[in-house]
Amino acid sequence: MKPHVVIAGGGIGGLTAALALLQKGFDVDVYEQAPELAELGAGIQMAANGTRLMIELGLEERLRDVVCEAAGKEVRIWNTGQTWKLFDLGQDSIERFGAPYWLVHRGQLHTVLIEAVRALKPDAIHLGATAEGYEQDASGATLKLAGGGSVRGDVLIGADGVHSTLRNRMFASPKATFTGLMAWRGLAPMASLSEELRRPVGTNWVGPGGHVITYPICNGAYLNLVGLVENVDWTDESWSTVGSVEECLADFQGWHPLVLETIANLDQPYRWALVGRDPLPNWTIDRVTLLGDACHPTLPFLAQGAIMAIEDGVVLARCLEATPDDPAGALQTYQSMRIERTTAIVNGSTANLDRFHNAALADPVGAVDYVEREWQPDKVRSRYDWLFEYDAMRVPLVPAFA
Ligand SMILES: Cc1cc2nc3c(=O)[nH]c(=O)nc-3n(C[C@H](O)[C@H](O)[C@H](O)COP(=O)(O)OP(=O)(O)OC[C@H]3O[C@@H](n4cnc5c(N)ncnc54)[C@H](O)[C@@H]3O)c2cc1C
Repeated sequence: MKPHVVIAGGGIGGLTAALALLQKGFDVDVYEQAPELAELGAGIQMAANGTRLMIELGLEERLRDVVCEAAGKEVRIWNTGQTWKLFDLGQDSIERFGAPYWLVHRGQLHTVLIEAVRALKPDAIHLGATAEGYEQDASGATLKLAGGGSVRGDVLIGADGVHSTLRNRMFASPKATFTGLMAWRGLAPMASLSEELRRPVGTNWVGPGGHVITYPICNGAYLNLVGLVENVDWTDESWSTVGSVEECLADFQGWHPLVLETIANLDQPYRWALVGRDPLPNWTIDRVTLLGDACHPTLPFLAQGAIMAIEDGVVLARCLEATPDDPAGALQTYQSMRIERTTAIVNGSTANLDRFHNAALADPVGAVDYVEREWQPDKVRSRYDWLFEYDAMRVPLVPAFA
């Protein structure tokens, strides 16, 4: 008999795991704290290692209606606007990595996942169900819910995000360090922007002590902006705290007119404090494991947070399918297959921070030298190819204790 899988958290990772497991014939129930499902969040960059999984899970047709397939990515200097190509993304991504590079609204991706899960099991997602703790014994695991309810399964997956309750019940919380960085993010209606901003490219504006990333989402209807500033005392790590256009503009004084134009047109800017956490050395105890931000929260500077959660879900489903009679062994195999890669991504993201905000960018001549040195094609390939090449559907399953 295939194990009954209980998942706490119906975000991107929890729902991908649910979908991959349902497709393999497992019974799955997802317990999500939100009382209703709303299209929350803003843009997510999904490189080939994520899009190939979405395509193989059968979501290509639905996602193609809402994603943007950018032609390429550029690096630009914060004040002069001088531009370098970072990499081609359109046909080049397909030729080199076998899958496209998509830019997608998190809420729309979430909706597509919800629909796909419900198409296989209409009552799989239980809303208004907040995980508070768990118990386990030799034959199963019990998720304890706020209000006194509980649910028993053969295995329990904590996919409850960066502030994971289950992680905090299983282990001491990872050491969290406020980075002194705050991210502004928001969406500018594309129709309100000048022609240069409407091009189908992703742009990294790099500057001393800050950077700005823009790319189109929602089938080109919006330009997504994420703007990082340093030396702030804002510590609220939330996806839903609002700020004002005036405050955001004040943080980017002196930046290029195209950056300021984008900010001035944001529908509603949100502010989000960036917190770094040390990678966990272990995230599984017998029949209970974690996935996504719950076990490897990351700074966003490699744009791999959501994709790691998606990869986790696919690998976890494959491991449970391979040894259904040994669920605890399957969870160990899953962790051992994922921990090295996710730790490297978390550390690589942290390392990118200095690259994007380097002090050399303050000086006009030094800035040009710096960008030409740091974004040389060979260096870019060595930083990104290993991420994009990984295929969670096919990477060999290596048992934990083999
Ligand atoms: C509202 C929201 C908006 C976001 N917007 C962006 C964005 O614009 N850009 C971006 O790059 N990333 C965004 N993220 C983060 C991004 O989705 C994650 O980093 C990434 O997808 C990893 O996925 P995950 O499944 O591990 O976590 P998440 O996608 O964060 O999912 C975690 C889920 O667990 C639920 N949950 C939390 N605690 C409990 C509990 N105790 N019991 C039950 N359920 C619980 C949450 O409500 C959420 O649905 C957002 C996350 C959230 C929750």
